[in-house]
Amino acid sequence: MRRLLVLGAGTAGTMVVNKLRPKLGKHDWQITVVDQDASHLYQPGLLLLPFGQYSVEELIKRRQDFVPEGVTLLIKPVDRIDADVNRVLLQDGTELEYDYLVIATGTSPRPDQTTGMTGSEWRRSVFDFYTLEGAIALRDKLATWEGGRLVVHITEMPIKCPVAPLEFTFLADAFFAEKGMRDRVDITYVTPLEGAFTKPIAAKHLGGMLAQRGIALEGDFMVDRVDNETKTLVSMDEREVPFDLLVTVPLNMGSDVIARSGLGDELNYVPVDRHTLLSSAHDNVFALGDASDIPASKAGSVAHFSVELFVENFLQHIAGKPMTHAFDGHANCFVESGRGKGLLIDFNYDTEPLPGRYPVPVLGPFSLLEESHVNHWGKLGFRWAYWHLLLPGHPLPVPSLMSMAGKHRDS
Ligand SMILES: Cc1cc2nc3c(=O)[nH]c(=O)nc-3n(C[C@H](O)[C@H](O)[C@H](O)COP(=O)(O)OP(=O)(O)OC[C@H]3O[C@@H](n4cnc5c(N)ncnc54)[C@H](O)[C@@H]3O)c2cc1C
Repeated sequence: MRRLLVLGAGTAGTMVVNKLRPKLGKHDWQITVVDQDASHLYQPGLLLLPFGQYSVEELIKRRQDFVPEGVTLLIKPVDRIDADVNRVLLQDGTELEYDYLVIATGTSPRPDQTTGMTGSEWRRSVFDFYTLEGAIALRDKLATWEGGRLVVHITEMPIKCPVAPLEFTFLADAFFAEKGMRDRVDITYVTPLEGAFTKPIAAKHLGGMLAQRGIALEGDFMVDRVDNETKTLVSMDEREVPFDLLVTVPLNMGSDVIARSGLGDELNYVPVDRHTLLSSAHDNVFALGDASDIPASKAGSVAHFSVELFVENFLQHIAGKPMTHAFDGHANCFVESGRGKGLLIDFNYDTEPLPGRYPVPVLGPFSLLEESHVNHWGKLGFRWAYWHLLLPGHPLPVPSLMSMAGKHRDS
């Protein structure tokens, strides 16, 4: 009996066990997946929860319900991986041996890594929305906030869903307008990037949308500290951005398990081959989803597209054959822009987000880098697709590799 062990039953880990279980004979393969938390959180919903558009109940389901028959789910924290002897140690002392290991432990916000971020103003005037607790606290704050200087801030890249802070900013603009208090709110978007996004064409479009909404952009801002006394963000080059309400995306880091196991880089991401997701150090270890160091967006869509190719490669690998499928870094993300509209971006390692239509050229129905109501409905509909199609491992009608069909370079 061969043993496959998956660490993390989030987006990537759940898809992997659902896709592999029917392909690996039950008498030949034992599959175990471990997660520290019995509830599965639909993380994209954390963007809309602060604006009262989702309830907590709509974003959480029992993790066990998404794990197929024939796969053992253990709800226990992982302590460390001893990859040299193919063994994982859980925090309660349980030892799990494996023949193949998939690391899918994701990435998490770490406000403790920035001086002053979790100081006296934390969850009073300094908030995050990348955790359920943070999004709930921010929802309660926004419900009664009377206005002032709102600063939306990214600490450092990479972060998961790199467009989420921009979306938060657009939604905040629309939220305050609807409440009839937009004139009482100054919004500033503070980012370590030069512009609104990582890639030039998208940065131009999205930066233009900030300007149209009267939102200031403070770029190249490497935060040094949050000054709780003066309620100011201070950069390493001593620029200061004062706030009445700071919504920050803290530094994102891979799991401490990776650091304790000596398997990660300085941000605890596991170095892998960017096409096969096979560990650079161990021939029987893969890292999927946000846990790896691939230079793609940390996004559920990347987890989805890469898992599709991983499954084919994994079957070749365990049969002792070369892996013939190469992941291209394909990502696509809906970008909520407020007032019932949104954009879509679609890109990969080599091609930046371009204007056009998706997934069908000319017809769409989604428009790339252009606001539309259909894109907004696509984003909302994705929650259903996540629970009912994506996690259970059913096919979605979009190709895993990025296509240039429908895209054009002139903008
Ligand atoms: C606000 C927000 C908005 C987003 N919006 C989008 C979007 O619109 N589109 C999109 O594609 N993506 C979006 N994402 C990103 C998406 O949710 C993640 O990229 C995706 O969930 C990554 O999947 P994963 O399996 O790698 O990690 P996760 O789904 O985070 O799963 C990791 C799992 O590992 C477990 N784990 C970690 N450490 C341990 C341990 N020591 N022991 C046991 N278990 C452990 C965790 O409990 C967790 O269940 C968003 C994220 C956020 C925060």
